[in-house]
Amino acid sequence: MKALLALAFLLNISPFQEAEMTQYSTIDAFLSGVYTGELTVGELRQHGDFGIGTFDYIDGELFMLNGEVFQIPALGNAHKAADEMTIPFASFCTFKPTKTAGLNGPADAKAVRQMIEQRMFSRTNIFYAVKIDGTFSEVVARAPRKLSSPNAAISEITDKQSVFTFQNIEGTMIGFWCPKYINGINVGGWHMHFLSRDKTRGGHVLDYKIGQVDVAVMDMMNFKVILPREASYYQADLNLDRAEIRTRLETSGYGPRQHE
Ligand SMILES: [Zn+2]
Repeated sequence: MKALLALAFLLNISPFQEAEMTQYSTIDAFLSGVYTGELTVGELRQHGDFGIGTFDYIDGELFMLNGEVFQIPALGNAHKAADEMTIPFASFCTFKPTKTAGLNGPADAKAVRQMIEQRMFSRTNIFYAVKIDGTFSEVVARAPRKLSSPNAAISEITDKQSVFTFQNIEGTMIGFWCPKYINGINVGGWHMHFLSRDKTRGGHVLDYKIGQVDVAVMDMMNFKVILPREASYYQADLNLDRAEIRTRLETSGYGPRQHE
């Protein structure tokens, strides 16, 4: 009886109580040169415990797990990010997995993604947060170097990034899967960041092969966007055509080719 009541409660859950993905700024604003934000690492940690993004002027990749935020720079080791650091673009949530599974490799990224999409994504057209934790026979990841000036072209991201190949490494991959209709605000498909178990190496995931991993997935029915309170955002021309956006995405390495 108790179980039945609990089930009834779950079925009657208010839309406002559903898990939520929050997005700070939009991908189009970011690709149009809004490289600074007023959201701080400290505030991010107050409103979520799991997330990915970058820092002002694209100074490395952001990785947040269990409320700890790390900066993964192009040069040097990953390290904890100070609460005062500011963020121009991030996706985050409070992670409470709704489904878990163990996976034994070897398997490449394409096979792992297909398995998760087919067996762990229970509904189409919604958002998912995903954590893949364990051993990886290979992880290819990139981290961007801080832009040289506030007006730098987006192509500088790929021109000055570091691409790392880690072999036989333990660590955690976290990120999001978004439906394609979100393009413009985020990028449809997969977007994952990696941090090694010793918390010194990682980056934005380009490719990987698993050894033995645990996968945890959270369904998210709600999606919130926080717009930057920044002059550069208010002045940005966001009426760009989709072909131009696609070119910017591809030259920046944020394009769907890296995520699908
Ligand atoms: Zn990324």
